Amino acid sequence: MIKKAAEWALTHILELVLSGFAVALPTWLLWAEDRLLPHIAQVKSIWVLRGLAIAVAVILCSFAYIVSLKPCLKWVAIIGVYQDRKTGRYYCASCKQLHKTLSPLKTEESGWRCMVRGCDKFYRNPDYRRPPEERSNQEGQW
Ligand SMILES: [Zn+2]
Repeated sequence: MIKKAAEWALTHILELVLSGFAVALPTWLLWAEDRLLPHIAQVKSIWVLRGLAIAVAVILCSFAYIVSLKPCLKWVAIIGVYQDRKTGRYYCASCKQLHKTLSPLKTEESGWRCMVRGCDKFYRNPDYRRPPEERSNQEGQW
């Protein structure tokens, strides 16, 4: 639970910080363009071009990082769940279809269970075989 909350906070804080920069930096540049133009005119154009290239690279890398945090899901028909291609983690199909949320499933002995209150859906592992019952001690004492 704590790990999930930390993951959520990290994702949303990064999105908030990056979107803040995406709005604040161009706004500041437009606001201060009259003051910046004399200084930029003194800088060689090659340095301006390199600065723009670095800015574009930072923006694209930040975007790629945010996109990489989101799960890339595929449908696993034999179980009836979604699976993240990167981590292998299973997600509840019922929650995704009904509530548009991604609910990671908890692994149990014979399958996977959704821990969302109200859903509690269980997905049986088709490869699971119940272990043979142990003989009671009384049976062998005859
Ligand atoms: Zn669910």
